[in-house]
Amino acid sequence: MSQEVKIMEERKKIALIAHDNRKEDLLEWARFNKGSLSRHELYATGTTGKILAKELGLQITTFKSGPLGGDQQIGAKITEGIIDFLVFFWDPLEPQPHDPDVKALLRIAVVWNIPVACNRATADFIISSPLMNERYERILIDYGARIRRPSFLKELETS
Ligand code: PGA
Repeated sequence: MSQEVKIMEERKKIALIAHDNRKEDLLEWARFNKGSLSRHELYATGTTGKILAKELGLQITTFKSGPLGGDQQIGAKITEGIIDFLVFFWDPLEPQPHDPDVKALLRIAVVWNIPVACNRATADFIISSPLMNERYERILIDYGARIRRPSFLKELETS
């Protein structure tokens, strides 16, 4: 299987998202790691971003609120190669109106091979990794080669 590489620079582009019951947890984590986070470029879904910006005084680019499409916007930025680390504290105990978007976002993070932290322990390990402050070559798997298409579409592609 062929492989492409995407460069993650020293200054990472980090997306932060927390479901309502996990927002306090994310806020505490972000407060503890404010120094490290301030060295990177931050993005967030609407409400998460507003809370973090207000409480920590960090500059954060915000998207729509999660239930209004913010998770999908972040997924699109991952696909475009703009976001390179996702901290997503999703709620394991409550269904969300936008559960399909949550699943889609986690899937797209795997497709584009970006680090994802869904709980504090993982977030701690990733934020304290030396790779956070180094250039990193992220390998992209060519999933295109595995996509099955009806033969008439394959013919159109090659013609
Ligand atoms: P929010 O969205 O930051 O706007 O609350 C998070 C989510 O529910 O995905």
